[in-house]
Amino acid sequence: MAYSLINDTILQRIHAMNKRVADLQGADLYFYNQPVTELRGGARVLVHGREMGMFASYSYLGLVGHPRINTAAKAAVDRYGTGTHGVRLLAGTLTLHSELEEMIAAFKHAEAAITFSSGYATNLSVIATLLGRGDYVISDKLNHASIVDGCLMSGAKFLRFHHNDMEALEARLQQIPDGAAKLVVSDAVFSMDGDVIDFPRMVALCRRYHAWLMIDEAHSVGVLGKTGRGIEEHFNLPDAIDIKMGTLSKTIPSVGGYIAGHKDLINYLRHSTRAYIFSAALPPAQAAAAKAAFEVILDEPWRVEKLRHNAEQFISGLKQVGFDTLNTETAIVPVVCGEDETAYRMTQFGQHRDIFVLPVVSPAVPPGLARLRATVTAAHEPGEIDHAMSIIAEAGRQIGVI
Ligand SMILES: *Cc1c(COP(=O)(O)O)cnc(C)c1O
Repeated sequence: MAYSLINDTILQRIHAMNKRVADLQGADLYFYNQPVTELRGGARVLVHGREMGMFASYSYLGLVGHPRINTAAKAAVDRYGTGTHGVRLLAGTLTLHSELEEMIAAFKHAEAAITFSSGYATNLSVIATLLGRGDYVISDKLNHASIVDGCLMSGAKFLRFHHNDMEALEARLQQIPDGAAKLVVSDAVFSMDGDVIDFPRMVALCRRYHAWLMIDEAHSVGVLGKTGRGIEEHFNLPDAIDIKMGTLSKTIPSVGGYIAGHKDLINYLRHSTRAYIFSAALPPAQAAAAKAAFEVILDEPWRVEKLRHNAEQFISGLKQVGFDTLNTETAIVPVVCGEDETAYRMTQFGQHRDIFVLPVVSPAVPPGLARLRATVTAAHEPGEIDHAMSIIAEAGRQIGVI
C-alpha cells in the first residue's frame, strides 16, 4: 500500500488534525462525537450511562420522538419498505414525496416545493445549478458552509459582505455590471450567532437592484413567526423570498432539504439539479416523518410560543450574570469564551456536571470568539434552564470568563 511511502502535504494535514484531536482527548477536553444511548423526551439524553440535560440540540420544537411523527414513519416502512428504487427523476418518486412537497409548499406559502436528501446538498447543488460563470452571487460573511461551498462550486463571481451590514450589501450590488444575473443569499438565523438577518432592508435592496433573493431557513422554521413559518411571517413580509430554502433535519426531526418557490423555478430545479438527478430519493420513513412534523407544528402552536419563552429566559439569564451572547434573539445562544482553550474548559465543566453543551472554535468562528454554542428547545422546562444557567455561570466564574 502506497500510504506508508507517502510524506506530502495531504499526510501533513491529516497528522496535524489528528494531533489536535489527540491532544484534546489526552487533556480530557474533547467532547465531540459522543454517542448518545437514549433520548429522553428531547431535553435529556443518556450518555455513558449518565443522564444529561441536552443544551446542544437543533430539535427546536422538541419534536424528536413525537408519537404522531414516529407512527407516520413506521406506517411508511410497513407500506413502502426502507428504501426507494433510486433517484427521484427515474423510479424513486413515491406519493409520499409528492405529498411532502405539497405540504412544504403550503407551509411556506409557495406554489411548489422540491426536496433533496440533505440540506447541505440542497444549498450546494441549487446554487451551482442556478448560477454559472459571468453571474454574481453576494453572500453574508457568516453564511453557512453549505452556502459558501455552493457559491464556490457555481463558478459565479463570489462577493461577500460584512455580516448583516445592509450598506455593505448595497455597495456590493452597485459594483455589479448592469444586466448581469445576481443572487443575494443569506441565512435567516445565523447558525453560530443566533441573530436574525435584517430582512426588510435586504428585501428592499433586492427589489431595487433586481437581484434574486435566497434565504436559508435551517434555524428559523419553527422558530420565527407566530406559527413558526419562518422569517417572512416574523417580519410580516409574505412572498418576499424567491428561493425559500430549508432543512428537514433540525426543527423537522427527519433528514433532507427543500426549496419552495414559483412553480417554474421548482420545475426547472427538478430537471437540472444534480443533487436531485444523481442522488437517491429520501427514504419513505423520513419523508413521512417530515410531513407529519409540519402538521404537528401547525396543530401544536404552543410549542413555538414555549420556545420563544425559553429562549428569552436563557438569553436574559446569561446576560444578567455577565456573559456576552452577541446579538442572538433566538434559540441559538452563543456564550462567548474567548480563546479556544477557554471554550473547551467551559465545556468540560458543564459536561462533568451533566450539562451537555459543546464548544465552537476556530476556524468555524473567528479566533478569539470561541464559544459555547448553547441551544434551548420547547422541550425544556424553566427549572431545567435555570439549573443549566447556574452551572454555566459557575463555570464562567471559575474559569474567569465572567
Ligand atoms: C444545518 C444547516 C444546513 C445543512 O442542513 P442538513 O440538512 O443538516 O444537511 C444548511 N444551512 C444551515 C444554515 C444549517 O444550519
